[in-house]
Amino acid sequence: MTKFYELSREARLKQLLNAEVLDEMQYKILLANQQIPAEIANNMVENQLTQYAIPEGLVRNMLINNQVYQIPLVTEEPSVIAAANYAAKLSTNNGGFHVEAHRDGLLGQVVFADINDLEQKAQMIKDHAVEIKDAADAAYPSIVNRGGGLKKQTVTIVAERFLKLTLLVDTKAAMGANMVNEISEKVGQLLTPMIGQPPLMAILSNHAPQDVTTATVRLAVDTLTTPTLAGLEVAKRIVQASAFAHADFERAVTHNKGIMNGITAVVTAYGNDTRAIASAAHAFAARSGSYHPLSSWILEGQFLVGQLQVPLPIGAVGGSIGIVPMARTNQEFARAKDPVIMQQQIAAVGLASNLAALRALVTDGIQKGHMNLQFKALAMQAGAKGTEIPWLQHKLKVEKHANLEIAQRLLAEKRK
Ligand code: NDP
Repeated sequence: MTKFYELSREARLKQLLNAEVLDEMQYKILLANQQIPAEIANNMVENQLTQYAIPEGLVRNMLINNQVYQIPLVTEEPSVIAAANYAAKLSTNNGGFHVEAHRDGLLGQVVFADINDLEQKAQMIKDHAVEIKDAADAAYPSIVNRGGGLKKQTVTIVAERFLKLTLLVDTKAAMGANMVNEISEKVGQLLTPMIGQPPLMAILSNHAPQDVTTATVRLAVDTLTTPTLAGLEVAKRIVQASAFAHADFERAVTHNKGIMNGITAVVTAYGNDTRAIASAAHAFAARSGSYHPLSSWILEGQFLVGQLQVPLPIGAVGGSIGIVPMARTNQEFARAKDPVIMQQQIAAVGLASNLAALRALVTDGIQKGHMNLQFKALAMQAGAKGTEIPWLQHKLKVEKHANLEIAQRLLAEKRK
């Protein structure tokens, strides 16, 4: 049977329709390659010129907490989706990913600067907790009606100069940036006469240790066997690679970049704020004061166990999600309309990306798979069309120093 990745785009979509992964409407939207409607795009950003397209692909049959998901990834980087699929299949043969999503809300900060009587003013803010709660609820009544809103207040003196009120707001199904900003500003206005000056700033913090999702995968070592290496050896090398990333800052950054390859691609597909997730992830990686990998791999007897911890303050509603058709369609067909399911999928894809990258690194090396896809890009850049693309890709693979000039020469010779 022809493999999913070997089918044409149209045939892949038809297969998903027949398998009832897609309903008729979703199928039509995906088939039409639909962009953001012109009027919406023009109102989404300033000085809008055009739309910038990035391909969307699918991670097939990813098993998460005993549920099978088809997860969309949007990325410009070749090999990210192939790698995630490889790891998804490997993990499915080992019971899949187990993911615990945590979601406490988003932090807001109301900050005052250059105050003389810091201790006294800090106490004053603490004494007005009820009024602060009332002001926060009045600032965004609809979130209170949904069972969310301000949950916790903390007052801190920072660098003996700044007075900071931290607000923890339960934003329910939304990411909550605008919501928290609104609440923080209104609380700032309430406090202005008390403190004797307006806040320096009132805004959310993208630090989100309260929203950490933990994904775990447990792989029998013999499922890691390669034509040249025993599974146990591959597992040991992955554990060493993980230990090295924990010991070496330069490696930790790239280790985490590999995780973010998957995370950013799913976050984009779901119309969420990739910068917010990246800032939260890297801040969490540096929470001890030095920067560390977001995942760890250990050997437990005959099992390789990987665990990823990453804050995922995402939203299933709000922002541009409701107006960008692809974001909604993706959430719908991937059965990710609930933010907790989204967190589970995003973390599992992050850990899958990490697994595939580490396995490739410690076995064949990362370039083997990457270069194959780079040759494809080179073939297209040289002007190859249709069946010329795999032909030229193969030719470049056996060339000693493939580059664009050689690709163009080979193509010209073939076309003579
Ligand atoms: P919105 O401002 O769109 O607010 C959420 C919306 O979702 C509200 O209109 C709310 O309706 C609606 N909603 C519907 N159902 C629910 C539900 N079950 N739970 C919660 N809300 C619901 O988005 P956010 O406040 O989430 O802000 C996210 C946006 O902010 C992103 O686009 C992000 O890029 C941007 N942003 C990010 C910043 C950062 O990260 N530093 C800074 C500033 C903006 P109702 O009003 O009726 O309650």
